[in-house]
Amino acid sequence: CGIVGYTGKRQAYPVVIKGLKRLEYRGYDSAGVALINEGLKVYKKKGRVTDLEEAAMGENLSGHIGIGHTRWATHGEPSDRNAHPHVSQSGNIAMIHNGIIENYDKLKKDLLAKGYKFKSDTDTEVLLNFIDDIQQNNDCTLEEALRIALRRVVGAYCLLLIHKDDPETIIAARKGSPLVIGIGKDEHFLASDASPIIEYTKEVVYVNDYEIAIVRPDELILKNLGNEKQTPFITRLDMELAAIE
Ligand code: GLU
Repeated sequence: CGIVGYTGKRQAYPVVIKGLKRLEYRGYDSAGVALINEGLKVYKKKGRVTDLEEAAMGENLSGHIGIGHTRWATHGEPSDRNAHPHVSQSGNIAMIHNGIIENYDKLKKDLLAKGYKFKSDTDTEVLLNFIDDIQQNNDCTLEEALRIALRRVVGAYCLLLIHKDDPETIIAARKGSPLVIGIGKDEHFLASDASPIIEYTKEVVYVNDYEIAIVRPDELILKNLGNEKQTPFITRLDMELAAIE
């Protein structure tokens, strides 16, 4: 339902939590975050963002990259284990997803036949392990694996992914579910609408359907599913400020 991401010089966790609270108006049943500090760290909880904060209290929440999600369940009941982020079977990738993967059933059958085991009932975890499987088999980058996977996916999505070996990069993709990227100085903010971003920057890029964004502190690359670079179109938020507040 709601998506937030951060990569840059700040501590990611407080930025992501604050952003999730700004998206609370959309309604949700659970919340979670993934960070990278000495490996992937995932905290997720059924209930409010404050329940998540309570569950994560006392943990090592440091790190300069983070993705966060508020879930509105479509596949699988609201529960801790169905909450996002999900982690792939290899343990390499964490992913959050807004939307619905319509052909998840067929993809899941193929993955089960290959020996994959699922920790949740979500369509999201199916897509994630599909991406993971492509990356293992082709020994390719996460970006390439995502591109190959999305050509076979039917449905709507806004996705954010992080890889445990790449603590600077968020890979994002969208089709039918909105994604805004805020451009800061050596930092980027990602969200499903501008409300978590406006306090940090007014320069944003609205990602188009069928685009993949490769987002690092000092770099924003947009590509289509054919791997061709797209020019990011930067919009100023002034006009929209009034509408949000
Ligand atoms: N379909 C996914 C799920 O049920 C994502 C739902 C959402 O957009 O929050 O977990």
